[in-house]
Amino acid sequence: MALNLTRRKFLQTASLAAASAAMSGCFARQANASTPFVKKPFTAPGSFAGTKTAVGGVCEMCFWRCQLVGKVRDGKLVKLEGNPKSIDNGQSICARGNAGVKLLYDPDRLKFPMKNVGKRGAPEWKRISWTEALDECATKLKAVVDKHGPQGIAIFPHGSSAKYPMTFFENVVGTPNNSEASFFQCRGIRDTAYVATLGVAPGENVDMANAKAIFLLGGHFGENVHVSHLKRYLKGLENGAKLIVVDPRFSASVSKADIWVKIKPGTDTAFLLAIMNYLIKEGKYDKKYVAEHGKGFDEFSKGIAHATLKWAAKTCDVPEKQIKQVADMLAANAPNVSIHPGRHVSWHGNDFQRERALACLTGLLGAIGVKGGFVAGKGPKTGKAGWPKPMAEHAEKFALHKMAKVYKFSPPGTPTDLIRNAAVTGKPYAIKGFVAWGQNPIQTVPDQALTIKMLEQMDFVMVCDVMPTDITMYADILLPESSYLERYDHIQKGTQWNFADPHQQFISARMPLVSPTAADHERKESVWIMNELAKRMGYGEHIKVKSAEDMINTMLKDANLTIEQLVKEDGIHLQPGVDPYGKALDVEFHSAELAEAGYPAIPTYVPVPEPPKGFARLVYGRAPMHTFNRTQNNTWLHNEMPINPVWLNDECAKKMGLKDGDTIELVNQDGVKSRTSSVVKVTPGIRKDTVYTAHGYGTMNKAMTVGVGAGIDDQSLITKVAVDPETGAHGMRNNFVKFIKNGKVLSIPA
Ligand code: SF4
Repeated sequence: MALNLTRRKFLQTASLAAASAAMSGCFARQANASTPFVKKPFTAPGSFAGTKTAVGGVCEMCFWRCQLVGKVRDGKLVKLEGNPKSIDNGQSICARGNAGVKLLYDPDRLKFPMKNVGKRGAPEWKRISWTEALDECATKLKAVVDKHGPQGIAIFPHGSSAKYPMTFFENVVGTPNNSEASFFQCRGIRDTAYVATLGVAPGENVDMANAKAIFLLGGHFGENVHVSHLKRYLKGLENGAKLIVVDPRFSASVSKADIWVKIKPGTDTAFLLAIMNYLIKEGKYDKKYVAEHGKGFDEFSKGIAHATLKWAAKTCDVPEKQIKQVADMLAANAPNVSIHPGRHVSWHGNDFQRERALACLTGLLGAIGVKGGFVAGKGPKTGKAGWPKPMAEHAEKFALHKMAKVYKFSPPGTPTDLIRNAAVTGKPYAIKGFVAWGQNPIQTVPDQALTIKMLEQMDFVMVCDVMPTDITMYADILLPESSYLERYDHIQKGTQWNFADPHQQFISARMPLVSPTAADHERKESVWIMNELAKRMGYGEHIKVKSAEDMINTMLKDANLTIEQLVKEDGIHLQPGVDPYGKALDVEFHSAELAEAGYPAIPTYVPVPEPPKGFARLVYGRAPMHTFNRTQNNTWLHNEMPINPVWLNDECAKKMGLKDGDTIELVNQDGVKSRTSSVVKVTPGIRKDTVYTAHGYGTMNKAMTVGVGAGIDDQSLITKVAVDPETGAHGMRNNFVKFIKNGKVLSIPA
């Protein structure tokens, strides 16, 4: 099982499990005159009078990529709806999906290339032409390459339109310093832990719609909204699935749970080990599955024998009988059990072990390849575009974690901390050119002061985005990108959300729903921007992507499809699918490969720091109407939840003299105070040692006229970073806060 994965190999592995995620293409081009309106009515429910329906939309208000149609009147998009032909999200889209219209016409959107004639962090913008902007970006980035080598550049990408530039920088320019927040601050740990245990990255591929029991560890569905995922979860509950939720607070999921395990944060692995030890001791595991597919089971069962119910009860601050109740409920419903692998799992710096434990529990219950279990849908085959990669080996060779022989189970790219430390110290090499493409590392990466220090020492900073964000304040040159509603990019393919019989597959591609009018802006799409930059940097001969339509057609060719055909088919091609059930996976309960690399061979509980006296642990999560910071300026969404209340236990609040709705600030263990304020939400639904708020608020960029200063920026309070030893990903929940009211610091009673 290859753990020292290249990006390409990793994505191939990941795609085995990514039933509904498109991994196969990522090319963008702006709309042209032939925006694909269907000729016949194709009336979607809720359609507006006097509109035409444009098909082929794929949402990007979050990463889930629901399939859309756009209602267009007089060349303007007036409404977005789910594509009725979709077998994934169907006619449903979430609040954020609906609010894409507002993003499209947000007056604060980046409009023209800009040069910062002020300071990084305190910019003064001067409008320049694309020629001037690209010439300067190319000259400055090439100067970095000439002086320091391709490893002198770091790229922080996010989103589908960033995949082409990211790949170009990595494969053609040869920069290894590629840090995707989705890997190093979110799900990378999950993916590599599952690859180490089950041989595949899990995606969110648990068959909740057909489960008899659903087990969520930190998952707060309802606050965390991804349409087809939520449909699976709700269908499972509607069918009578038992729901177990492990969470220190009363989340939206807890409100529907049969069992709420109000766990002490950071102790989840101990909880999982005790469940597995109990199941083994009681003979309540799937002996047949383990005998046929388990590797190193004897070492595993001996190695976790210490994890008694009593030990876990004390460690996790959970009643012993409740742990037994959870274990018995899982066993009684096995193998049709959805052990959810989570998504944002970068919590405490011990997270690889927790994800390994979740994968082992799945195997122990035999919940793999069966209805309700861990099941990867089998999506359709499409072709590949074929990326050039003359410098890919250079990038591998200079990857910082490989040079230092650390983080041997890192996801693709380079752990953020290593990039930041190298940039600040100049060791083992200098990093002097910085490219952010769709990512806002001020809000995604903990320890903002260090991130800003990294940016300040750069010779050149280029940022490309759709909206202003906190990182755009640090750009030397700022490039405006067209939105997901105005361009071609990315094939989207998969299977139907609930694996219903007869099984079906779908293929679609993102198409523009409206043509961008050029009267008030000069936005461009990422392939054009990257290619123009590449030509100027001297890499023109390696450009293979000339037209997004052509490239999409190349990928569609293997499926006997074209863009025109997709339009005729209302944006989505459907074809017979393949039975997703029946595929077993081997389970590495004990991993010789991990042992050889110097890591625990079996899942191991690693304690995390306790809150200092007077502080409580700061945890964070999602709000259903926001995709973190990305949507903060969207008026429709902002008005639904303008600030992020901070949850505090009611008994603590009473002793502190705080009332629900009081205006407060926060200060952390390092004395860092929140820049802005919020209100306290007093509730019995949270542990006394924990406070909670929604992530993404409190942006500092005044160019975001709606979102600026609204709520508290939790990331600014995450100054202590716990780096996961296996992956190098950031654990962000080992920070602790007190409250401030009217300038007075209030300790939180134990
Ligand atoms: S879940 Fe919502 S925001 Fe995400 S892709 Fe679907 S409609 Fe868009």
